[in-house]
Amino acid sequence: MRSRLFRILLTLTNLSSRPAAFHARPQPIHTSTPLKSMPSIPFLGALFGSSSSSSKNTMTSYPDQRTPDEWRAVLSPEQFRILREKGTERPGTGKYDKHAPSSGVYTCAGCDAPLYQARHKFASGCGWPAYFDSIPGAVERHEDRAFGMVRTEIVCANCGGHLGHVFKGEGYDTPTDERHCVNSVSLTFKEEEREAGEGKKEGEGN
Ligand SMILES: [Zn+2]
Repeated sequence: MRSRLFRILLTLTNLSSRPAAFHARPQPIHTSTPLKSMPSIPFLGALFGSSSSSSKNTMTSYPDQRTPDEWRAVLSPEQFRILREKGTERPGTGKYDKHAPSSGVYTCAGCDAPLYQARHKFASGCGWPAYFDSIPGAVERHEDRAFGMVRTEIVCANCGGHLGHVFKGEGYDTPTDERHCVNSVSLTFKEEEREAGEGKKEGEGN
């Protein structure tokens, strides 16, 4: 079958029909794939559009510069998948989804930086822990164009760990009209009030 095709090609192109020529000269028979007329816009966006809401480059300039291998050593596989590979836990499964303490702090499950206070949390009913605000400077935002959508990703400002996404203008009865939709896996709840950024306790080191 194949040799017959080649022979036809060779005949058509007036080349020698000797077997030697068969091996010596690869024919460009696989270039017939039609060229795509236009790459899709989301693809272009992913390549070139990264600087509308955030000027920082993802994953390059965080105080905590641990490598993937170093993270793997201290995180569970599920934590690594979500924090370092931007995964998402299934809705309604997270341990902090319906968690509603009156005080305390949610810290980054990767680097332990305080991210949210208990009073920031509200019952959104969306299946993930929801916060209307964060501890000042603790959470950084990036434009996320994955899956053909434009969303705002939120990460830990100290280690770049993926937390989830933030949504605006949904009409929740909260002071900010924002919902930080965060994976429980990305968080650790601490009962003691420790307000980083407001300088309440010092000298704990790290
Ligand atoms: Zn962190």
